[in-house]
Amino acid sequence: MRYRIDQKTGRSLSVLGLGCMRFPRTIAGIDMKKAEAIVMTAIEQGVNYFDTAWIYPGSEEALGIILEKNRVRDRVYIASKLPAMLVKKPGDLDRFFNEELGRLRTDRIDYYLIHNLADLFSWETLVSLGIEEWIAAKKKNGRPGGGDNGSGPGGGGSGRSGGGGSGGIGQIGFSFHGPAGEFHKILAAYPWEFCQIQYNYSDEHFQAGVEGLRKAAETMPVIIMEPLLGGKLANGLPTEALDIFHAFSPDESPAAWGLRWVWNHGEAAVVLSGMNDPAQVAENAALADRAAAGSLTAEELDLYRRVREVFNASYKIHCTGCGYCMPCPRGVNIPGCFAAYNTSFVMDWRTGFQQYLNGTGISSAKNAGPAACVSCGACEGHCPQRLPVMAALKTVRRRLEPLPVRVLLAAARRFMGRKGER
Ligand code: SF4
Ligand code: SF4
Repeated sequence: MRYRIDQKTGRSLSVLGLGCMRFPRTIAGIDMKKAEAIVMTAIEQGVNYFDTAWIYPGSEEALGIILEKNRVRDRVYIASKLPAMLVKKPGDLDRFFNEELGRLRTDRIDYYLIHNLADLFSWETLVSLGIEEWIAAKKKNGRPGGGDNGSGPGGGGSGRSGGGGSGGIGQIGFSFHGPAGEFHKILAAYPWEFCQIQYNYSDEHFQAGVEGLRKAAETMPVIIMEPLLGGKLANGLPTEALDIFHAFSPDESPAAWGLRWVWNHGEAAVVLSGMNDPAQVAENAALADRAAAGSLTAEELDLYRRVREVFNASYKIHCTGCGYCMPCPRGVNIPGCFAAYNTSFVMDWRTGFQQYLNGTGISSAKNAGPAACVSCGACEGHCPQRLPVMAALKTVRRRLEPLPVRVLLAAARRFMGRKGER
């Protein structure tokens, strides 16, 4: 494993971090056996940065249980996030934070982020609720001295929190999904100690972009999320793009290409990957071993340029499938609609339509397709990609439910004795 230095503390952070948002699940919830195998393999491979959040269902609890059971809290840095969008009054800050400490079974969150700041106004709203004073108090509680010498993980808090406000924060940061201009304003508004941005080769100017990465990295560690754009750069590349990579190196996987591109930027401290099984952890850890900054050749960089062109021409709606927009009060399967739409271009219309039928049930009374949308707008403000969800759903319907299809679907619903379209 390679490590890059957190310039705020001198700590060594593994270049590969485990994103815990998408732990494997069963119907009953997180599959603890698989999640434990993933976490423990990651630790064995040298990963020391684990990212979770209050809003990831079951993730903090699962991580806390696994770390406690295996007595490895002191071998890792925990990063978690305040659900800023749910903070309405000063007391909410302690309420969420103490709940997180309890779930994580620790007294200290090493890297604590304000989740999903999209603009300066959102930060100023939190300031008006007293968040700066609150952070100062929590950082005092989490200051090195409780066991953290500043160079190793897990200082000051392998015990379980009593939830009485005694827990602390190591470093304070924010995760960002918004326009570049707002990123720079937020950076300047507070003495942040790290930040987390989306960054991948599909568009290096999207959101904070390469300019934001470079600016932030002058003074703080930058954590990278979505290096594979929700898996699309790993499992969803169009054949033409795959052929470009394969012609150059038949054995390198698309995921490897995606991760190597981010690691090539020395400004990226940790690259988060939501790995699904121990084998994938081992594979990515091996890649991280050769993740030297500036190691890509000019020829390789040109391959990315060509793949980017093909990819962006195929993927019409850049939905990562994160699910932040869900649940829709009308039951619309928003990410499912966008995935099917993209498939209809990446593969062919028929395959996309089949996916659309399966994902939305539009041929049944429980229509979870775009026709069920009542344009309430509840989803759009939550989308980290700033997608115009309502307009995009109309576009999806025009392509995947052209008039003849609508007529056939209505007939099918009548024939089945079910209700027609809403
Ligand atoms: S705008 Fe449409 S898709 Fe979005 S939450 Fe409202 S009903 Fe659901
Ligand atoms: S529409 Fe936006 S919020 Fe919803 S799944 Fe896609 S990227 Fe996530």
